[in-house]
Amino acid sequence: MNLSEFTHQFTELFSSHPRIFRAPGRVNLIGEHTDYNDGFVLPAAIAFSTYVAITPRPDRKLVIHSNEFREHFEFDLENFPARRMGAWCDYVLGVADVVGRQGFTLRGANILIHGEVPIGSGLSSSAAIEVAAALALLSLSATELPLPEIAQLCRRAENTFVGAQVGIMDQFVACLGKSAHAMLLDCRSLEFKLTPIPPHLSFVVCNTMVKHDHAASGYNVRRCESEEAVRFFSKHYPDVRALRDVSPEMLARHAKELTPTIFKRSTHVVQENLRTVEAARSLANNDLSRMKSLMHESHESLRDLYEVSCRELDIMVDCAQDLPGFCGGRMTGGGFGGCTINLVRTENAAEFASQIAERFRRATGIAPSVYVCSAEDGAREVF
Ligand code: ADP
Ligand code: MG
Repeated sequence: MNLSEFTHQFTELFSSHPRIFRAPGRVNLIGEHTDYNDGFVLPAAIAFSTYVAITPRPDRKLVIHSNEFREHFEFDLENFPARRMGAWCDYVLGVADVVGRQGFTLRGANILIHGEVPIGSGLSSSAAIEVAAALALLSLSATELPLPEIAQLCRRAENTFVGAQVGIMDQFVACLGKSAHAMLLDCRSLEFKLTPIPPHLSFVVCNTMVKHDHAASGYNVRRCESEEAVRFFSKHYPDVRALRDVSPEMLARHAKELTPTIFKRSTHVVQENLRTVEAARSLANNDLSRMKSLMHESHESLRDLYEVSCRELDIMVDCAQDLPGFCGGRMTGGGFGGCTINLVRTENAAEFASQIAERFRRATGIAPSVYVCSAEDGAREVF
């Protein structure tokens, strides 16, 4: 990202000199579809970021441009849209809406967005734009909120205004990620532990380029199925508030009373939580062979039990298995397309990237995007 060009572009557009805020995308190493079940996740922020440049306006208008989309939007803060527009501006409007509802002053502003996070690929460009926009909008009212509160504010914006029932993981790690570390996050208490990533490892993120139409609906169906499971277990165990509270023993005891689908979904979540906590320990102890097994089990469980993988993701995972330097891989993000995450020895990462791209292209006819990256710091103002 060339900041001086971005600043120049803003100045040409709005004739004023902006402050610029940055928030990163993320990969999730393990702990998939556990966040909205109050469970554990192990994500890391990555070097691809979304930048939001902002200056105050003398009037009550919000003027928003994005380099990634052609149309620009103008809104009157006195006549704020009651509901979503069904366009990319919803992510910024949603944040503005929640900032206002929480009693912080909203000022008129010029906003320019530049995103490097691949959009709609499971690397959470949505959380990146929300968090950077929240920092930018709050800066105009000279409000400094603790980062965990900013993460919650952004999640609320995506849940209530955009209408996607996402968990807290993406916004939280976009806010509080740390370079060279993954974050073991308890999505119920929001307590987290930073886990050092062995220094000789890189992330190789492989984008299948597939975006399935049923991604959003499939996600919401899985959420409903989780809720159905919780209703069942809470009848037997009043303390169960989420699948997080269900143990493998409870699951085994009631297996026959659940429909096959609900049993499969619950089994994934219960076991994935255990895998995630163990994975953080394995990574911290540099036990890469255990980490590799856990990531593999996670992928198989997402494929066979939670049923959110797809042919291309499975092929991408297979393509990695015997490449030099490979230390574990799986689908990452909500599924139905998007990316896989691979832990690869840094000395092998460039060769791994070119070989997996070639193998995947031969198997599917699709030319994938492959990114070599590492864990980076969370959101902040850039100077
Ligand atoms: P993901 O979070 O996996 O990238 P989502 O569907 O959750 O996918 O979010 C993608 C949406 O977020 C885009 O369709 C767009 O509406 C919005 N968005 C993300 N990045 C930008 C950007 N740089 N400029 C404008 N809108 C963006
Ligand atoms: Mg998203």
